[in-house]
Amino acid sequence: MNYIEPHAHMVSRTTADYQAIVQAGCVALCEPAFWAGYDRASVDGFHDYYRQLTEYEPARAAKFGLPHYTWLCINPKEAEDAGFAREVMAIIPEFLDKPNVLGIGEIGLNKNTRNELAIFEEHVEIAKKYDLPILIHTPHLEDKLKGTKMILDALKNAQVDPNRVIVDHVEEHTAGLVLDAGFWAGMTLYPESKCTAARAIDILETFGLEKIWMNSACDWGISDPLAVIKCAVEMRKRQHAQAIIDKVIYENPHKFLSQSPNFKL
Ligand SMILES: [Zn+2]
Repeated sequence: MNYIEPHAHMVSRTTADYQAIVQAGCVALCEPAFWAGYDRASVDGFHDYYRQLTEYEPARAAKFGLPHYTWLCINPKEAEDAGFAREVMAIIPEFLDKPNVLGIGEIGLNKNTRNELAIFEEHVEIAKKYDLPILIHTPHLEDKLKGTKMILDALKNAQVDPNRVIVDHVEEHTAGLVLDAGFWAGMTLYPESKCTAARAIDILETFGLEKIWMNSACDWGISDPLAVIKCAVEMRKRQHAQAIIDKVIYENPHKFLSQSPNFKL
């Protein structure tokens, strides 16, 4: 099956992972900017990371014939120091004309603090200024519902076109909120937290097939770079038609991502 991996942190994965992803049928992969597992000490640390995302990682992916795209931001985990975050945001525009950049992301909230929200809103302004789509990270566990509501309120206040925004890591209690407000929703398939394949398919069966995608969000933690295709196999076992599976793992991400002129298959 051909599929698109819309959210993977490949800088923390091996070449064996690239081989497995391509052999499984992945035809394009997108890598949002994220936390490195430690806080970066300087703006230069982010400058190097943005070069990695826009120069080295697409070249590494190309060795496996895999188109690699990216989203840029300072992630919410490192946004609590608002002064530092603003210094980092100031260098983002110099990377926006790189050919693999799709938009601003993954921005959002982590602990739902006032500073995180301010930096989230300022990222949204960058996206509006440069007419870019937005990819959003929602907080984990008990912070998710409140954080998702705060994010949706901020987006409405900023009058962002909801068709150009995907709110990722939705679960049973947030998918409806996001979709009803007109935004796209992403489901993250993790072995230990977020969605299992079974829960993700339940969510699809409950909320429908429009404006929704699945991703592995594989990073340096316990995660599975093949989670999307494994979930597609589970959908087959549950008697979903191939056309429905293709819509979720290929057509939907293709439709959303094609709003970026840089995304071409
Ligand atoms: Zn991520």
